[in-house]
Amino acid sequence: MNDKMNDKIINNGLKFNHMDFQTRVIHVGNNIDKGTNAIKRPITMANSYKLPYDPSVLNWSGADENIYTRNGGSNQKYLEERIASLENAEDCIVLSSGVAALSGLFFSLLESGDHVIFSNVTYIAVYRLLNELFNKKFKVETSIVDTTNIENVKSEIKDNTKLIHIETPGNPTLSIVDISKISEIAHEKNILVSVDNTLASPYNQRPIELGADFSIESLTKYINGHGDSMGGSISGKSKHLDTIRKDSQINLGGTISPFNAWLIMRGSVTLPLRMEQHNKNALKVAKFLESLEIVTFVSYPGIESHKNHEIANKQMKNGFGGVLSFGLNTNHDKHNEFVSNLKIITSAVSLGHDESLIVFIGEDDERQYLYPKEFKNGFLRFSVGLEDSNDLINDIKQALNKTGLL
Ligand SMILES: *Cc1c(COP(=O)(O)O)cnc(C)c1O
Repeated sequence: MNDKMNDKIINNGLKFNHMDFQTRVIHVGNNIDKGTNAIKRPITMANSYKLPYDPSVLNWSGADENIYTRNGGSNQKYLEERIASLENAEDCIVLSSGVAALSGLFFSLLESGDHVIFSNVTYIAVYRLLNELFNKKFKVETSIVDTTNIENVKSEIKDNTKLIHIETPGNPTLSIVDISKISEIAHEKNILVSVDNTLASPYNQRPIELGADFSIESLTKYINGHGDSMGGSISGKSKHLDTIRKDSQINLGGTISPFNAWLIMRGSVTLPLRMEQHNKNALKVAKFLESLEIVTFVSYPGIESHKNHEIANKQMKNGFGGVLSFGLNTNHDKHNEFVSNLKIITSAVSLGHDESLIVFIGEDDERQYLYPKEFKNGFLRFSVGLEDSNDLINDIKQALNKTGLL
């Protein structure tokens, strides 16, 4: 048989089980490379592994043995071991993107006739998948619900409800949903709960500890942290993940490249240090923005004016992340002019990078009807980076000045 890769990495995880997040993020999934004694595991770019003497004993669609990289590659498995440990989950599947994780989860769990409740504020692909593709192609019933209100969720539950999918903090409005409460009401009715945890990262929030069945991360964001690769993860119980792995990865083919898995592994080492800085910077920037007259609102779970600050305080352990959104009391064009006048902060999608990124979301965005009223005139989503916070504040000031808004 092949090298027992899975046994080896599980043993590696157990060795560090009782240790702190900061220690596990460095050691779990890394080991001495047997071939060379290198103290960092290498990137294994091979797409095939040597077969045993009698390959007929293998399951060609299995993930337990190293056969073919789509069934699971070494670098992917090391990263899965690390993410599972950080999420405090039994198991983890790492895929090629956050959306591959979301679509893989939905594809594997849902059948025609099932009903899904999902948050009004989610990553756009969730809206497309559930509201446009799964319901039309596969006759999955879907309800978009303001999940910040537990009563709304309760009243939408039906006999065929299979899954409640929430995102907290939600992208792009930073809405906060009570993970424990949602899990409690869902589990009373045998409904599964998945949480998109991307904006918090497992350093700030761990949905599985709060009762959710699945924690989804876009590894592209904070966990990689450097804006140079893509990946996604689904963490949860093995009894679910064994099937999801076969469906989403081996049969749908959403496997991550070894190089991307390696980059994310490398980026993840500094997650706690980076999140501390993101948390601090975003809080300072949020408070600064709140002090400006031209700013109509700031949505950041870390400030007291946030509608669900209390819930955020309860479920987010170390801080509130680096993403905030805010509105300016001005017209469409001036928003674009303000952004173009920024010198450090770059206009780009994505978030959780080392550098600060900003996006203007217009008043005519197709999902405006799902957002609270203060967002209706258009708003800016700001992913506060790791730069010096005073430099960021000065950049905002000079750009507002140059645009004639200050
Ligand atoms: C970016 C993002 C995703 C999608 O991740 P990709 O890696 O871009 O596919 C999913 N959820 C949230 C909250 C995100 O911000």
